[in-house]
Amino acid sequence: MIITPNEGYIWQLRKLVEPPETLAKNGYIMQPLNDDELFMKKRCLGCGKTMHQLRVKQSPNNGPPPQANKADITPSKITPSQPTIQEGLNIKSLQTATKSGVSEAPKFSCRYHPGQLIRKVWTCCNRNASAEPCVGTNMHIPQNISTDALADKYQVHSTPRVVHMQRSPRVAVALDCEMGTAASGDSEPIRVTLIDYFSKEILVNNIIFPDVSMRHLNTKYSGVSWDDMNKAKRQQTCLWGVKGTREALWRHIGPGTIVVGHGANNDLRALRWMHSSVVDSLIIESTRAKREELRKSAEIESADEGRVGQKGDNGDIRLTPFSTTATGIAESTEETAPKVTVVRKPRQLSLKSLAKLRLGRDIQTGGKKGHDSLEDATAARDLVHWSIMNPDEASH
Ligand SMILES: [Zn+2]
Ligand SMILES: [Zn+2]
Repeated sequence: MIITPNEGYIWQLRKLVEPPETLAKNGYIMQPLNDDELFMKKRCLGCGKTMHQLRVKQSPNNGPPPQANKADITPSKITPSQPTIQEGLNIKSLQTATKSGVSEAPKFSCRYHPGQLIRKVWTCCNRNASAEPCVGTNMHIPQNISTDALADKYQVHSTPRVVHMQRSPRVAVALDCEMGTAASGDSEPIRVTLIDYFSKEILVNNIIFPDVSMRHLNTKYSGVSWDDMNKAKRQQTCLWGVKGTREALWRHIGPGTIVVGHGANNDLRALRWMHSSVVDSLIIESTRAKREELRKSAEIESADEGRVGQKGDNGDIRLTPFSTTATGIAESTEETAPKVTVVRKPRQLSLKSLAKLRLGRDIQTGGKKGHDSLEDATAARDLVHWSIMNPDEASH
């Protein structure tokens, strides 16, 4: 369905653009990464976790992290002759020696399989994919990569003002990416779709040939197989890496273009792209779900008040203190007032669930074919249109 881009509608859509604080709170990158943030992107050569993940993990609820752990991830502590994987202790042999399983094995901060996973079996220990790591060391070893190289890989870029455009930027577009997993463990976009929000014209709908080595294409969900990938490469219909993808998108997008997506923070992050005019159907729907819950509990409270409650001097609703009456409230409320619904769980806020709920549309039904970024971008656009057509009264 085509939407007429009249001024009134565009104004409604602009009202849904999230303020920078909200975007930041929802995982959008709003500023270029500084050196410290870039450092946090480094991964441990052993376990493969990022310095960010390790620092997060080292802040347990009970007290500050032990000093030794902190030192472990400081690159200056790494001696010129870096300990290698071979110097790690073999957990399995220690376990066999003590004959009493994991609990008596020494606690290592860095645990991993040094081998490769081939046909769901680790080559290092011949055990299956889910087996506990067979090797451990006391230190995490940050990969040896310069800040420049990190910046080249991870730095985010804002939508440029001037690009070689055949025409002026679109007013609004909808975006979706399918992701694979790079060898490093990073999410890597492997297919992208961009449509015009109003006309649904397909602006970009391509496979992205990654410029990093890949662990897997997550074909079950991404719907992209190596066959598709190689075919797109042969036919030269693919985009090259995230940089090539950003450039392809920016042919249609200026800084003022409204980018619509569902949880588009993941797409933008993976594309290393900063954009401030974003309408996110996931944020809209989760805010709506929270408001709905508040409204329903308020309705129940006022129903209680009408029955047996009384207002305190300051206007607060107070229930009568008699326990017998309180039981009565619970029972009568059950019959007459709407039940309190819990705030929607993440699964209920998935694009698939919401497309069904709001649009009566079944998406992501492809089974083995996985998701389809065109279908998903269209669903995000239609969800936003739905919320413009069905304003949440409580929010106005
Ligand atoms: Zn192993
Ligand atoms: Zn590690």
